[in-house]
Amino acid sequence: MQALNTFGLPAVAEYYTEIHAADQLKQLEQWLKHHPMPLLLLGGGSNLVLADRVPGLVARIMIRGWQLSDLPGDHVRLRVGAGENWHATVERSIRQGLYGLENLALIPGTVGAAPVQNIGAYGVELKDRISAVEVFDRHEHRQRDLTPEACRFGYRDSLFKSSEPERYVITAVEFCLARQFTAEVSYAGLRDGLGDGPVTSERVFDTVCRIRRTKLPDPLDIGNAGSFFKNPVVSVEKYEQLKHRFQNLVAYADTGGYKLAAGWLIDQCGLKGFALDRAGVFAQQALVLVNLGAAHREDIEHLSMHVQKVVQERFGVILEPEPRFYP
Ligand SMILES: Cc1cc2nc3c(=O)[nH]c(=O)nc-3n(C[C@H](O)[C@H](O)[C@H](O)COP(=O)(O)OP(=O)(O)OC[C@H]3O[C@@H](n4cnc5c(N)ncnc54)[C@H](O)[C@@H]3O)c2cc1C
Repeated sequence: MQALNTFGLPAVAEYYTEIHAADQLKQLEQWLKHHPMPLLLLGGGSNLVLADRVPGLVARIMIRGWQLSDLPGDHVRLRVGAGENWHATVERSIRQGLYGLENLALIPGTVGAAPVQNIGAYGVELKDRISAVEVFDRHEHRQRDLTPEACRFGYRDSLFKSSEPERYVITAVEFCLARQFTAEVSYAGLRDGLGDGPVTSERVFDTVCRIRRTKLPDPLDIGNAGSFFKNPVVSVEKYEQLKHRFQNLVAYADTGGYKLAAGWLIDQCGLKGFALDRAGVFAQQALVLVNLGAAHREDIEHLSMHVQKVVQERFGVILEPEPRFYP
């Protein structure tokens, strides 16, 4: 599976299959009933840290599909198969004059994995743009639609990640998009990048792609899983203590407290460019851990634990990894 995970970790699956249509999932469940074993659903492998040996069955979701229906007014419903590439979907929607996804350009992976951690970037989260998630329910053995409320989306979190991680296979995602473009440029970095001139969907898309290319390593060149740690949310009291000690602390008000910039915390500990075994903290962006060549899961895990320990000792804040370690 080395080519199927963006860290480029040399994982070998015990069993492997590919799902091209939602109705294959019933057969898959039948097979698992007779051969009980763990199941890992795989999209583009861009949010996974895999062990050398992956026990059980890996099922790569490759369901295609693009279905458009008009809504009253300026809006449309767009249902896209879970196996479609995320960035290609964003690009295609804009080309068809369907607006709303441009801030989420260039995020690697599949459409089906996007709700799992409620992907977000440049002021937009997936939850802001979807009307339903189509799933195969492994408990009820049937396909159905979940409303956005039922998905319990949070910051890099959802029902699919936290509360019921094994229950649903996402088969399609339904977006609610607009035929009239409304810019979302609350994120300062994006506003600065746009500069002067009319803000069009194409310009937002191009600017997001340009900024991302300068900030993040391309997994084809250097193995990585994007931002490795979530930005930790702390209480107002904790924030005030930290702000007193570290006057240039980077933080944003968030529900119930403050969200701290995890990259800033790591950078302040002098860890940018730090290497441990075959893994390193990316020299241009402290939030990204990279495969320095021939890394295994243990290398990523040891480095992740080291970063957590150093940040906790200095700031008393616990960093939580964003990718899933499997198994
Ligand atoms: C360079 C880089 C930049 C990134 N930038 C961002 C960013 O800006 N914002 C952001 O939020 N994330 C970012 N990511 C993380 C990652 O791209 C997203 O989390 C993406 O949605 C993962 O998609 P995937 O198809 O690769 O999922 P995978 O890594 O294959 O799977 C991730 C999880 O979803 C589950 N899963 C996959 N498909 C399904 C399905 N059909 N049904 C149910 N469960 C499923 C898997 O079992 C696993 O638990 C970045 C990653 C990289 C490498």
